[in-house]
Amino acid sequence: MEQSVTSKISQEPEKQIGNVADASCHTRRIPLWLVLLDNIPTLLLFILGVLIIYGLSPLFSILFGVYTLFSVVWFWGKICPYCHHYGTYACPCGYGAISPKFFSRKDSKSFKKVFRRNLVIVFPNWFVPFGVALYLLLTHYTTYLLVLTIIFSVIGFIIIPFISKEVGCKNCEIRDDCPWMAINTKKD
Ligand code: SF4
Repeated sequence: MEQSVTSKISQEPEKQIGNVADASCHTRRIPLWLVLLDNIPTLLLFILGVLIIYGLSPLFSILFGVYTLFSVVWFWGKICPYCHHYGTYACPCGYGAISPKFFSRKDSKSFKKVFRRNLVIVFPNWFVPFGVALYLLLTHYTTYLLVLTIIFSVIGFIIIPFISKEVGCKNCEIRDDCPWMAINTKKD
């Protein structure tokens, strides 16, 4: 699904999908490399999370994999419809182009509040595998698990925040409305 979005983005520069308020960022074309840069580390994080949790329970790892997909769909349905980038190709990760296919637009004035309320849905994608990894390292240590944990931590806690802050969201015109960017700005 992501591939179809990214190819559309590369094939239809400057195209606006929906009827959104006129703003320069809405007609901006996000390049394919940026969409991939935003999504590939997240996909890797999900796969690593499944592999880590598999060491605890194969069933739990399958449930976790399903949850990661559910959290992404939840994001499309509960956050993106309120965003100024909904229905445009200006969204750095391409969700703004996918969300309108399944969910209708909502009031963008509520974006900040809605974002804060719903972002929690993605937190388990980071902290459940990390917690399981720590538990397994203490109780069933293996070098394989240690390597998985290090890669997971570097991608999840360093690379993904760095990409969001310095590349994907860096030049976003609505970054002041975004609680995620507010958190990162406070850290500076
Ligand atoms: S910028 Fe964020 S909230 Fe807005 S459409 Fe893209 S993924 Fe959704």
